[in-house]
Amino acid sequence: MLKLGLVRDIDLALHLPLRYEDETRITLLKNAREGDTVQIEATVTACEVQQRPRRMLKVTVDDGSATCVLTFFSFYASQQKAMAVGSRWRIRGEVKGGFWGRQMLHPTCKAAGGELPQALTPIYPVAAGLPQAYVRRAIATALQRVQLPETLPRDAQPPIANYWDENGLKPLPSLRDALLFLHNPSPDVALSTLEDRSHPAWQRLKAEELLAQQLSQYQARQVRASLRAPALQVPPSPAGQPSLVEQLRAALPFALTAAQERVCREIAADMARTQPMHRLLQGDVGSGKTVVAAMSAMVCIAAGWQCALMAPTEILAEQHFAKLVGWLEPLLVPMGKKVAWLSGAQRKKERAAMLELVASGEAALVVGTHAVIQEQVQFHNLALAVIDEQHRFGVAQRLALRGKLAHAGLEPHLLMMSATPIPRTLAMSYYADLDVSVIDELPPGRTPIVTRVLPDSRKDELIQRLAAQLAQGRQVYWVCPLIEESESLDLSNATATHAELSAALPGVLVGLLHSRMSAAEKKAVMEMFASGQMGLLVATTVIEVGVDVPNASLMVIEHAERFGLSQLHQLRGRVGRGAVASACVLLYSVGESGRLSDSGKERLRAMAETNDGFEIARRDLEIRGPGEFLGARQSGAAMLRFADLDQDMALLEWARALAPRMLARFPQQAQQHIERWLGNKADYLKA
Ligand code: ADP
Ligand code: MG
Repeated sequence: MLKLGLVRDIDLALHLPLRYEDETRITLLKNAREGDTVQIEATVTACEVQQRPRRMLKVTVDDGSATCVLTFFSFYASQQKAMAVGSRWRIRGEVKGGFWGRQMLHPTCKAAGGELPQALTPIYPVAAGLPQAYVRRAIATALQRVQLPETLPRDAQPPIANYWDENGLKPLPSLRDALLFLHNPSPDVALSTLEDRSHPAWQRLKAEELLAQQLSQYQARQVRASLRAPALQVPPSPAGQPSLVEQLRAALPFALTAAQERVCREIAADMARTQPMHRLLQGDVGSGKTVVAAMSAMVCIAAGWQCALMAPTEILAEQHFAKLVGWLEPLLVPMGKKVAWLSGAQRKKERAAMLELVASGEAALVVGTHAVIQEQVQFHNLALAVIDEQHRFGVAQRLALRGKLAHAGLEPHLLMMSATPIPRTLAMSYYADLDVSVIDELPPGRTPIVTRVLPDSRKDELIQRLAAQLAQGRQVYWVCPLIEESESLDLSNATATHAELSAALPGVLVGLLHSRMSAAEKKAVMEMFASGQMGLLVATTVIEVGVDVPNASLMVIEHAERFGLSQLHQLRGRVGRGAVASACVLLYSVGESGRLSDSGKERLRAMAETNDGFEIARRDLEIRGPGEFLGARQSGAAMLRFADLDQDMALLEWARALAPRMLARFPQQAQQHIERWLGNKADYLKA
């Protein structure tokens, strides 16, 4: 059972059946229709092993109403012996018609007689090799043993819609009753209410689950409120002198937009408090989050503390590093400070030198990839951590970063940045413990990106047009899809495209970027593209996030139908960063089926219809559902197992309203409730 992650009795009790089988009745063979799964009781009239077309056991049975042939391709000699002519069996399986009369393939058989069960038989999700019977026993034992005291306050029953029976409105079942029922439902229940989870027993579970999630989020908020962080205040500068932050603002090559100014103020206000900041900076691709990070870092540095910035890929971290060095170092050097660089690809010696800078505090800012949170990294006095493209990081990594920061009992301020807006339902449930700042305006002078959807049969024509654009000095990204099953196929695909485009575009320097290249190779290619020497860059999705080359104004995405919606939007955001009109071409291929899937069509349509990241995120959620949206693999522990945010909005609202009240008035029950549902996973919800 450990294999299934089922440790405590309550874990077992909450391991609910996938479906049910009705073994409560015996069906007469003559009444069984083709395709029905039925249970019969019958006597063996013939039993023989056939060798052709392959070895199998054929058993003929008769229940007095009709006969049926049972076929077993794998069987033991003992089984053959037991199914002797004249023996009686209780047999369960799917009835097939067919020319040779009724048949069942590999039915389950047990000796006839004995009482019929009173309840439907649960079928549990199991790990390979674990028999149902074993899981059933373990769960039944756990159900008897488990303590399930009522945790919901009496005056706070969840709103459960439409549940009436002949006695009027049914009271909400207790958790124990709900679980007992779901593990062994009575045969008269409408199976559809179990399947669509509308049954009150299900509602009870969903309500409890959502409440646990909300409680743990509010608790996290309370815990954070009790933690201390350094209050980062920019010291007053000598009369007439602008502060470091003012100096940075003046040195930037552009004026901040009103939205950028506003979020900078929100962040600075958070950091000036002694409570650790936990803020998400949300802004569409290209809205200019990096410079906000730089301004925030400067506040931290001016206050005398260290800042760390972490990005999910080498290329992106590298670009941030270059940018931040350019913006900040002129101001840092006179103070005897620097910007340090940490990456996994770094040489040992360089890395050691960087670690030294970080530990001594000479590095006022540390930029890098995951390398920033590795154990050997010792900060001198870290007070602000910025995580770019936060959804690309796992929860564990975010937790590790927080662990780093403990300095004399202090926690760091945390700023997360993302281009993917969080839809309202998710914001209410998963991110209730997060403050959000939104950059809702793009820097001026951007021309909207025109998006075209083209079948790949028009690729040649497209390449001719590109040639004309390239001749005018414009730069182009050409993205090849990642082929999930095979990295090497993916690579050969990109390589072939590179060769094809090089041949078709004489006189143009065509580059190639893919995930197998070393960091140094990637860097060299990126530099050539960024400097404008390279006209066209063929890339796998390694360029997905954050890359910033303002002169690139055309983006071609091949096999666009294979990409997710938010991925397409992120990719498209690589262009349209300068003043020239930009375009994005989505090439699709109908493949062997000759047509696009419906969801593929919907994604491409959404891309053509809107440039608005919020709208894209909303449609993405519609198409994919929240599991994928959150990156289920990363935050699996935090995922809801029973509740569904689309269907259970009323329960979510209820849980949200109840959680703070319950924590204040019934802290013990609240604690008990969290423990019951989340055990030690509660930590993950807080990251
Ligand atoms: P993202 O929010 O996607 O991370 P970036 O921070 O990479 O966006 O910014 C996109 C581009 O816009 C960069 O070239 C950046 O220098 C530029 N930029 C940012 N803010 C402004 C501004 N206020 N005015 C003009 N350009 C800006
Ligand atoms: Mg960015």
